[in-house]
Amino acid sequence: MQLPSELDDLYQDIILDHYRSPRHQGLLHDPDLRGEGFNPFCGDQVVLTLGLDGAGRIAEVGFEGQGCSISQASASMLTGHLEGKTLEEAEALVRTFKGVMQGGEFTPEQEDDLGDIVALEGVKRFPIRIKCALLGWTTLQDAISAYRKTRD
Ligand code: ZN
Repeated sequence: MQLPSELDDLYQDIILDHYRSPRHQGLLHDPDLRGEGFNPFCGDQVVLTLGLDGAGRIAEVGFEGQGCSISQASASMLTGHLEGKTLEEAEALVRTFKGVMQGGEFTPEQEDDLGDIVALEGVKRFPIRIKCALLGWTTLQDAISAYRKTRD
């Protein structure tokens, strides 16, 4: 699927850069957390793997996927913001992003922190593509929830 042509040109460039050169591509061999997500609407798939350090912080991230540019760029952007975070901090990031995609706004502090992720904000004007933008993020949340279940 093409990007909505109404998206700001600068944002399109950022999204296409991540789509063409995804960051953290390739799955970890022995991950602590693993999640798989699928968006039937446009056939997007994301598999996300995380490795934790001894203090429970995310030390390594790897993902693979296929699908539309928004889904893959969004997953790539997400992976760039996970290393060094605890799982709780990663969940807070997911909540922030979901809140914006569901109609909220980033605060100026969040815009500074999140960098290129802000390029996805325009996607919320295209409701049918919001699931694409959220796919990597819901996959992360699912992976964290599954990990917690195994530790209970
Ligand atoms: Zn899609």
